[in-house]
Amino acid sequence: MQRAKGKVVSVNESLVSAQTISGAVMNGEVAYIVIEDGKRLKAEVIDVKEGNRVYLQVFEDTSWMKVGDPVEFTGLPLAVKLGPGILGAVTDGLQNPLYELGKIEWFLERGLEVAPLDPNVKWHFTPKVQKGDTVTGGSVLGTVPEKLFEHKIFVPFSLRGDHTVEHIAETGDYTIDDPIATIKDASGKTIPLTMAFEWPVKMPMPFNKRSVPQKSLPTGIRILDALFPIAYGGTACNPGPFGAGKTVLQHSLARHSQADVVIIAACGERAGEAVEVFKDFPELIDPRTGKSLMDRTYIVGNTSSMPVAAREASVYMATTVGEYYRKQGLNVLILADSTSRWAQALRETSGRKEEIPGPEAFPMYISTLISAFYDRAGVEILPDGAEGSLSIIGTVSPAGGNFDEPVTQATLLSTGAFWGLSRALSDARKYPAIDRIDSNSKYPSLLEQEEVTYLLELLRDGKTIASNIILMGEKGITDEAYIRYQKAELLDAVFLQQNSFHEVDGVTAPDRLRFMFDMVKEIIDAPLTIEGKEEIRSHFNFIRQAFLDWNYMRPDEEGFQKQQSKLLNLVKKRGHVAENV
Ligand code: ADP
Ligand code: MG
Repeated sequence: MQRAKGKVVSVNESLVSAQTISGAVMNGEVAYIVIEDGKRLKAEVIDVKEGNRVYLQVFEDTSWMKVGDPVEFTGLPLAVKLGPGILGAVTDGLQNPLYELGKIEWFLERGLEVAPLDPNVKWHFTPKVQKGDTVTGGSVLGTVPEKLFEHKIFVPFSLRGDHTVEHIAETGDYTIDDPIATIKDASGKTIPLTMAFEWPVKMPMPFNKRSVPQKSLPTGIRILDALFPIAYGGTACNPGPFGAGKTVLQHSLARHSQADVVIIAACGERAGEAVEVFKDFPELIDPRTGKSLMDRTYIVGNTSSMPVAAREASVYMATTVGEYYRKQGLNVLILADSTSRWAQALRETSGRKEEIPGPEAFPMYISTLISAFYDRAGVEILPDGAEGSLSIIGTVSPAGGNFDEPVTQATLLSTGAFWGLSRALSDARKYPAIDRIDSNSKYPSLLEQEEVTYLLELLRDGKTIASNIILMGEKGITDEAYIRYQKAELLDAVFLQQNSFHEVDGVTAPDRLRFMFDMVKEIIDAPLTIEGKEEIRSHFNFIRQAFLDWNYMRPDEEGFQKQQSKLLNLVKKRGHVAENV
């Protein structure tokens, strides 16, 4: 096919308008703009106008681009190369490796493209089909071990209909560019296959069969697992003002969530933030495997010095890789921080194109794009009956922490759990600063539903009594109400608050969560005989301190049992009616 050619007509930062000279151009296709020194800058066609005029968003610095520079269209959409070797990688939104483990210089030279998957690595391939077998798109040709998993080598998903295996490689070591199979379609055309293939990032990978997310995904974060859970294949929205703890929460989720694969889409808020992730994560040890956390992690990111268009590419890159590992039968979790940066990039591009703006100058189609993004999450039942899932948790950073703005609202409508971070809580250092009253989730908790209701009722009562105390003073309320208030405060302090940076308290496994809940409930339900605000307060202070000390101890640690007995004795001795009294 003859590929189209064109010339640059105008340059407006990352938005370039070009005139085609020959050939037809498709929306979404990739083009290269050749600048004076011969470097080829990657761009994507985002609009085709009348009169052979096209708009391109350029993924690289356009400073040296000039009117008249030649444009070479590829006829191919922006795509990701899928195959073994993605886990452990750190790339930008165009799958250029950004950072090799142990190296600090990770900035890519402009116009340089590096092979997305290392062409030198040999993978140990074991065939799963034989010559003469019938296969189709998505059939498994064989497997290779990739870090912790058996990575299935698929027939490219884009191939439709029955194909016959003409040749399949023997068990052995191959690179991702080595041919491992030849298949023949119904018309007799032969197709050579390698262990990798491309998929256009903006096209959702069709589900084999979709199923409703209904199994809770333990995150190790108590307030989430108990009150506002996420499910395997579910989606959550985490809006919050600057500094309220969005990034800390995401990093904690990346480390402790019980997903098989974690994909971090880092569009940093602060200049150095994405770089910090790139440097920090490779050093972390996975508490579950004892190996590097990167063995089950893929990081795709942008730094603030990259052009805005690259942020959008990162989000799509992360999603497509996530869908691919879901097809592997794994539970994948995407953490996107911050989706507001992506939305702002869309706003900038839309503004440069002089489109009719929607609310707060975001393009009209912003909510459609956001909902399409979260819709790519889900549980998939695979052809062999196994399940894979893709869960997405996105942070939103609305200006001034105002949740009424379009991006937060669109995200809210598209996600199944809402974790609103509160400035008041983060100022009081009550982390995670997830609003206890205004957050919600439609997914099942690790606790029973009536236990969730029990906790939420106590929190609501506590909030009401707290405002009465502000209005009338402690003297203005009854001892009974004051006790209820102290119980709500205790629940908050020992159960909902959690120190992300503490080795033990930072992550709570489901069995300990259950045990903690039972302890909390025992304390709350025990009848109290003490009187007077001072006495009541001091009683709960003792219990809180003993509980917090216990929270910081590992169950196999010396003194753990002792601390637990001490705590339970406090409950009995200091005012609670012990049995037989
Ligand atoms: P955001 O991403 O919302 O701007 P960060 O996640 O960077 O905010 O958090 C800002 C600061 O708040 C952190 O550097 C840390 O000191 C504190 N913080 C946030 N969450 C926690 C937590 N769960 N435990 C302890 N400290 C926290
Ligand atoms: Mg942040």
